[in-house]
Amino acid sequence: MCGVFGIVGHPEAANITYLGLHALQHRGQEASGIVSSDGDKLYAHRAMGLVQACFSPKDLSTLPGDQAIGHVRYSTAGGSHIKNAQPFAVDYSHGSVALAHNGNLTNYENVRERLEARGSIFQSSSDTEVIVHLIAMSTQDAVEDRVIDALSQLEGAFSVLFLTPTGFIAARDPHGFRPLCLGKLVHKDGNAIVVASEPTAFELIGAEYTRDLAPGELLIVGGGEMRSIFPFEKKPAKACIFEYVYFARPDSQLGGASVYEVRKALGRRLAEEQPVPSGSGETIVIPVPDSGVPAAVGFASAAGLPFEMGLIRSHYVGRTFIEPQQTIRHFGVRLKLNPNRAVIEGKRVIVIDDSIVRGTTSRKIVKMIRDAGAKEVHVRISSPPTRWPCYYGIDTPTRAELIAANNSVDQIRDYLAADSLGYLSLPGLAQSVSASRTLANLPVLKDPVASHCHACFSGDYPVALSRQKSPSRPPRHVSS
Ligand code: AMP
Repeated sequence: MCGVFGIVGHPEAANITYLGLHALQHRGQEASGIVSSDGDKLYAHRAMGLVQACFSPKDLSTLPGDQAIGHVRYSTAGGSHIKNAQPFAVDYSHGSVALAHNGNLTNYENVRERLEARGSIFQSSSDTEVIVHLIAMSTQDAVEDRVIDALSQLEGAFSVLFLTPTGFIAARDPHGFRPLCLGKLVHKDGNAIVVASEPTAFELIGAEYTRDLAPGELLIVGGGEMRSIFPFEKKPAKACIFEYVYFARPDSQLGGASVYEVRKALGRRLAEEQPVPSGSGETIVIPVPDSGVPAAVGFASAAGLPFEMGLIRSHYVGRTFIEPQQTIRHFGVRLKLNPNRAVIEGKRVIVIDDSIVRGTTSRKIVKMIRDAGAKEVHVRISSPPTRWPCYYGIDTPTRAELIAANNSVDQIRDYLAADSLGYLSLPGLAQSVSASRTLANLPVLKDPVASHCHACFSGDYPVALSRQKSPSRPPRHVSS
């Protein structure tokens, strides 16, 4: 998973991009990069690590110009290398182009093989690199047409930004798997156009959210004007439902709906679908911070139970799931969360989290809560069981590692050593998203389940993975 940010028409384009990337840091902590343009040339800087560590003031001063694109990259097993850091920037026969991609291309292996057979030499294991080669090989003249030509040959998920010395293009794949939104930044010398994975990046830089890019939209900015075209074959909209559940920041909007309000609604619905029967003694609702907090707020209010912070999170360690090695991840859980004995001791505890992937985190959490003196521990999850890997950009493990792919809910409860376990249903999830959209006066979704991609829960893949017979493993290359 990754985050992208772009700006056109600001004298401090690279500095603003740096700030925008900060606000998108949750979408990728492995590597980060910025490419800027001064109307003549492209300038690039990429490094491994958090945004703050990747750019010194000196690095930013090497990125002149009033246009820039930036990228934060999520760690995926085996792909942790500077060569995969984005934006990619290349020179080809028609000039220079840089691109920053979020998503995963499902026909990447086929396209790469075809290109290699024709002599292309690849420098990375990133699926994004095929886009660069397709642009370079296109027989079209204008950059815009080359981009359309390249993107038309791709399947799967792409929210992608392109920068040339004189122009900027943003594109979202026809299903709209990954988010991409547009905003405006008014500054002393005029107005800048900003594009980002999530609007939370706009707030930090004082920009105004305008709208989401529509699935299949290509936004072209250059020569002082901005226009949109829809060059791809129309496909059903399939925005990723897991962005609402976990991935996006709670203070973002997706498709115009507040992620925080959606998560609270998921918690309320979870309380209706999976209530915890009353028992003797005081019952409290606690979140697994930070990802479970809004759902726990909703659950507690719907169940009429007190919300407490029974687990305290250290903010000095990053997301543990992303550590590539099992051993480090296990250690990370203990580093990150500590039980708050004063709150937990002697209570019946309902602990809310957004998802269970391998189950290792939840198992440790249940043990921690019990060791801190809880009488009972009831686990409630604000999404359905995660049973299938994502092919469209969320970093999920293989089916063999997904606990819900191989175990019933009762078996998972036993593995976690919880007194009870309950998941939200898929209709419950989709209807809660839809209801929150209605609250924000957005158009009603006729079929909330069908309007989203929920393959990780249902195995219902909107786009098949080429060359892969059974969906038993995630793609071999690294995704963006
Ligand atoms: P696990 O120990 O594998 O069950 O980890 C589950 C935790 O990882 C949940 O608390 C989620 O908040 C978090 N999580 C779920 N999906 C992802 C993902 N794709 N990337 C990073 N963290 C995730």
